[in-house]
Amino acid sequence: MEVELITIGTELLLGQVLNTHQQWLGQRIADRGYTLSRQLTVPDNGPAICGAVQAALGRARLIITTGGLGPTSDDITRDLIADLLGRPLGRVDSIASSIESYFTRRNRPMPKSVLVQAQVPKGAAVFPNKHGTAPGLGIEVSPNSFHKNGESAWLLMLPGPPRELCPMVDGQVLPFIEKKLPIEKPFHCRTLRTLGIGESMVEEMLLGQLKPLMDRGLDLGFCARIGQVDIRLCGHGQEMPAIIAEAEATIRTAIDKQIYGTDDETIEQVVVGHLIATGETLAVAESCTGGFLGHHITNVPGASAVFAGGMLTYSNELKKKLLGVNESTLAQHGAVSKEVAIEMARGALEMSGTDYALSVTGIAGPGGGTPEKPVGTVWMGLASRGGRPLAICEHNPYDRETFKHITVHQSLELLRRRLQKAG
Ligand code: ATP
Repeated sequence: MEVELITIGTELLLGQVLNTHQQWLGQRIADRGYTLSRQLTVPDNGPAICGAVQAALGRARLIITTGGLGPTSDDITRDLIADLLGRPLGRVDSIASSIESYFTRRNRPMPKSVLVQAQVPKGAAVFPNKHGTAPGLGIEVSPNSFHKNGESAWLLMLPGPPRELCPMVDGQVLPFIEKKLPIEKPFHCRTLRTLGIGESMVEEMLLGQLKPLMDRGLDLGFCARIGQVDIRLCGHGQEMPAIIAEAEATIRTAIDKQIYGTDDETIEQVVVGHLIATGETLAVAESCTGGFLGHHITNVPGASAVFAGGMLTYSNELKKKLLGVNESTLAQHGAVSKEVAIEMARGALEMSGTDYALSVTGIAGPGGGTPEKPVGTVWMGLASRGGRPLAICEHNPYDRETFKHITVHQSLELLRRRLQKAG
């Protein structure tokens, strides 16, 4: 089934806003067994929007547009499409009152112009917007005069702001699509998420072994992101769960240690989840990651039950003062060293009274490297109550932001392996 996405917004083409809908919606739809066949971004102007929608109606059975449903003068999607499809707009009172109560709840005066969002093309399905004012709209185009065989299509118009779009898609739009446009054979999908192994290496290790299952319909995909590789196993049909389970068993035999989670799990969710399950606690001592490790951990709902906090010790002075790192250790080995990483972790453990403490100290660059410790060198330490401290060294010679991302993942992975005794 052809599915097309049209993201509407001049700001997307000017590079002022990153088009995250394309990635997010593409993934969400693929997880349900639909595949985006085309994506187009158009500016907020009538001919561009109408041209794109008309052309998509000539090809696809499902067309999703995002943006341009708001109350401002550049929000013209609703009017244009109503016009294009010959569906006059009419006010829906229940939408008008939910817009009014949106403003009342926030104790803010309501500009009259926002009520334009209560105008709905005749016969359209409405997806109430729980996080904003513009509802999503769905129109079945049938008969479809834009398609050469008159094949009917669904046109879904969704709001632009991600905080409005994402819950609407998950809660209402995906179930709606599955009901109106069911896929013929049931779709199954499982993603194994790995850290610490490169994409080509994963592929080289697995491709040959999984070939027989691919011949039976398994769709195998690799997606490399910063420091991680996701292995996606999916396919259609009754026998697919068994094929996917067999593929997973094969993969786990080869690289089980590197698999930290499945599907949408992040490494920080896995670590926090494990600590919650065991009732153990964590603190961090960060230097070169500048608080990014703590940021990731506190992104996980419920982290407060297990995360005591962190010490951001960028200077040697603060490493000594807050964490008790020895002057002599710093002088003898330098701030980026196994010895300092361990003393930082031990200091954080002591200070916070937690069961585990992670530490990070490294050279993010671009300056500060030496032949022995080039830019990108980073030591990560782990101290635990009653266990021997350990430290690992990695080399992450990237820009500062990528350096931080990878380092945070590696340090959380160090802890995960200890927690799950994964070696
Ligand atoms: P509003 O009520 O805010 O006007 P809308 O449905 O009319 O909502 P737009 O005005 O097109 O949506 O976009 C609102 C904001 O949503 C944009 O400024 C942008 O920040 C964000 N946005 C829109 N489209 C995208 C996209 N494809 N990817 C990421 N963000 C987007």
